[in-house]
Amino acid sequence: MLKLTHVQKIYPNGYQAIRDFNLEIEDGDFCVLVGPSGCGKSTTLRMIAGLEDITHGTFEIDGKVVNNIPPKARGIAMVFQSYALYPTLTVYENMAFALDLAGFDEDIIDKRVRETAKILGLTDYLDRLPKNLSGGQRQRVALGRAIIRKAKIFLMDEPLSNLDARQRVNMRSELVKIHRNVGATTVYVTHDQVEAMTMATKIVCMDVGVIKQVGTPEELYFHPKNLFVAGFIGDPPMNFVHGEVVNGSFKAKGYDVNLSKLSSELLAKLEGKKVVMGYRPEHAVLHLEGKKEDYVTLSASIEVYEMLGDIQNVYLDNAGTKAIIKAAPEDKIKIGSSLEYSVAYGDLHFFDEKTEDAIE
Ligand code: ADP
Repeated sequence: MLKLTHVQKIYPNGYQAIRDFNLEIEDGDFCVLVGPSGCGKSTTLRMIAGLEDITHGTFEIDGKVVNNIPPKARGIAMVFQSYALYPTLTVYENMAFALDLAGFDEDIIDKRVRETAKILGLTDYLDRLPKNLSGGQRQRVALGRAIIRKAKIFLMDEPLSNLDARQRVNMRSELVKIHRNVGATTVYVTHDQVEAMTMATKIVCMDVGVIKQVGTPEELYFHPKNLFVAGFIGDPPMNFVHGEVVNGSFKAKGYDVNLSKLSSELLAKLEGKKVVMGYRPEHAVLHLEGKKEDYVTLSASIEVYEMLGDIQNVYLDNAGTKAIIKAAPEDKIKIGSSLEYSVAYGDLHFFDEKTEDAIE
């Protein structure tokens, strides 16, 4: 179990990269730190690894403060984006290297290399040199070198960023399987919300130096705590309309949305407030089959669309407010024409315009 309490990082040049970081990671978690470039993900990971000092606060592993314990003694294995394999050593030798160095018996090394190769599907490649492997296979060897040391904790910094799109998708599900097999607590850094959503048991969504929300992928998707998380998780991102709730209706330029079907409790919180209304592109319904009274109706003009095969992304404009919705491939989309669509009351999100916190 990892625990960071009131952790701050101030670099020698005075820049405060992490402000007040509080996080608990349970044993066996696959914890993904996600956020835009520069928000402090790598800094956090490097403090966990012991490669970077913690300026204030404490970091504990299994209840013991390890701020001053050197990286080697923390029981941590790190996988970086560059695989850093030894080019002149075979897959077998690359994986055996650390154990060799640590003075393990050859029998034990052999057993561990073969076990690890089996978990990673590398059994047939043990005699190959790295240059004769695909990017995905190389990445698996790099993982193998971490797994073979039986570390309690794995740290990964954008490990898939050197792979092409298809390999990345494959490695995502492989990493999940490997994590399930090995069971080690993993902290994984990425700027890619899809990686976070698909792999994490726990997502830590960060913005410059602070945590914006911690939760399961479902919690962040369905109940984003603030505007930042709502806009960061989901692709294309959630649509936002800035307006005001007056007499039970959401009003903005081009919008007059009757909210009377919302719970009275929620409506009371919204009444009279400047709010941002949000809905996800995938929650727009073009052909309503449910009960009409459970939905609000919106309309906008079509600016552009992208046909992706399984869906179309339709780019809309309503009185200057842009939106993107997903339509079925068979939907007739005509640029310049207007489009009516519905969004279920349950799929609407509201945020306080000033604090940017969700109102639920
Ligand atoms: P991320 O991994 O989220 O992209 P980083 O943790 O690498 O972000 O960096 C967070 C912030 O700290 C950035 O603004 C970066 O420029 C700054 N930073 C990183 N390393 C140093 C350093 N050694 N000295 C000063 N500032 C740094």
